[in-house]
Amino acid sequence: MTDLRAAHEPANDRRIRRIAIVGGGTAGWMAASTLARALGGQVSIALIESAEIGTVGVGEATIPPILDFLRMLGIDRNNFVEQTQATYKLGIGFRDWLRPGHQYWHPFGLFGTPINRLPFYHYWHKAKAQGLAPTVNLFSLETALAESNRFIFPQNTLGIAQDLRYALHFDAVLVARYLRGFAEHLGVTRLERKVTGATQRDDGFIDELVFDNGERLRADLYIDCSGFRGLLIEETLKAGYEDWSGYLPCDRAVALPTEIQGPRPPYTLSTARPAGWQWRIPLQHRVGNGYVYCSSHISDEAAHADLLSVLGQQPLADPRFLRFVTGRRKLFWNKNCVALGLASGFLEPLESTSIHLVASGLYCLLDHFPDRSFDEANVAHYNRQIIEEFDRVRDFIVLHYCATERSDSPLWQYCRTMAIPDSLAERIELYRGTGRIFQRQHELFTDLSWFFILDGLGIEPRDYNPLVDTVDFAQVKGLLGQLSGNVAAAVAAAPSHDSFFMAGAPQRRAAR
Ligand SMILES: Cc1cc2nc3c(=O)[nH]c(=O)nc-3n(C[C@H](O)[C@H](O)[C@H](O)COP(=O)(O)OP(=O)(O)OC[C@H]3O[C@@H](n4cnc5c(N)ncnc54)[C@H](O)[C@@H]3O)c2cc1C
Repeated sequence: MTDLRAAHEPANDRRIRRIAIVGGGTAGWMAASTLARALGGQVSIALIESAEIGTVGVGEATIPPILDFLRMLGIDRNNFVEQTQATYKLGIGFRDWLRPGHQYWHPFGLFGTPINRLPFYHYWHKAKAQGLAPTVNLFSLETALAESNRFIFPQNTLGIAQDLRYALHFDAVLVARYLRGFAEHLGVTRLERKVTGATQRDDGFIDELVFDNGERLRADLYIDCSGFRGLLIEETLKAGYEDWSGYLPCDRAVALPTEIQGPRPPYTLSTARPAGWQWRIPLQHRVGNGYVYCSSHISDEAAHADLLSVLGQQPLADPRFLRFVTGRRKLFWNKNCVALGLASGFLEPLESTSIHLVASGLYCLLDHFPDRSFDEANVAHYNRQIIEEFDRVRDFIVLHYCATERSDSPLWQYCRTMAIPDSLAERIELYRGTGRIFQRQHELFTDLSWFFILDGLGIEPRDYNPLVDTVDFAQVKGLLGQLSGNVAAAVAAAPSHDSFFMAGAPQRRAAR
């Protein structure tokens, strides 16, 4: 048996000394890198992966906290962008979600400016109530840049670009390879093995991993990054799964890469289709495309044919079909096992949240880092925090579907009338009644993100916030003119997004 325990370890030592990570996809290598970085030489870390089983190989769009994750690891962003064929992302463009022909944006970054402590969207509501027809691109730099296929980094000087926010699109396979190199450099041991199961102690804790070659491996803490099946968290520990397919009925996807044609847009494009939606993610060396669909309304063959027909291009590889059930584990941490990535649950990639949820789970694990007594209150607190985060992301994604006006196919007819979580219904009602949005504790998406989707999908408050009337609206209109002028000037001076990926463009590298 392989035992990661150090020879000199005292018998009464309660510290975690050995961690085994099962799975070498994005989640597994993110976990290995983070734990190796945070725990230094205190702990031996082994990662077990099986080339025969492979990874899902998708997961190419991120949200801005990915940059904090790289910073936390001490990874040079420019090097990461080069090695993973990454491009920059300013937000998501949604097409045909409200009705065919309609488009709206979920940009990162600021929207206008708060006035008298009130978020800008309250003034936006009043402007609309007064018959003005403002557009988001006038007050969101990220949207205006995205619409013109331009990009800039946040600027160190005062001005509108100071608070610009962006994320990355990257090649998932190259990311796993990059993080593997990083983690191995920090001393993580990689074992190429197939795990056939795990033995348990009398108290139900995992005792040892069992490999197909008969070897075994014992650790104190097990991280399950084994993908959808949840080899440890579900197959061994039976954590249970909360199924959300009633709210989010899409359960399949087909992915197809294509060659780059035309400029690379600095945003993810999400286009609603009769039985689901299509993604388009531009990378430096290719475009990632996929169709997320509902198997009760379209077959795999028809979804593949539909995607091919809208792409109108020869794909660069064979289609990759994926199956999933939207939902989450009832427990993310059970006994001495913590699940991350697809092993912990799956929310469809509409808002590019899965990779972030891996990072968030890792930060939370470090905040709750156990010893070998695995204090129950500590574990329960971790679970509550992660459950809250998953549930709020679920609500955010359900909003994109339930507010549609589409009735042109069985999927959209279902979404218009389906029951939604109470927590989401309350939030929509509060917005309709007052225009107010409150960000909850441990919630990933801010009030602004909620605003962009609510407003984008045509949900209007019955009245605007009465406090808006305490400010002279003529002055507000003057400020609006100034803000939109600043946005337009910054966009006019910005280089094309493509220019960042031309050879010999060092001035295009991120300063921070
Ligand atoms: C269609 C689709 C699109 C997505 N798009 C996005 C996106 O745009 N943005 C985003 O943030 N996320 C996205 N995701 C989610 C993202 O792909 C995953 O969160 C991420 O790739 C992490 O996957 P993973 O590492 O948990 O699982 P996997 O990639 O499935 O890795 C599992 C690992 O476990 C190993 N393994 C399994 N069983 C065994 C065994 N018995 N023995 C040894 N090893 C084993 C495998 O070899 C593999 O290394 C998407 C997911 C899907 C399905």
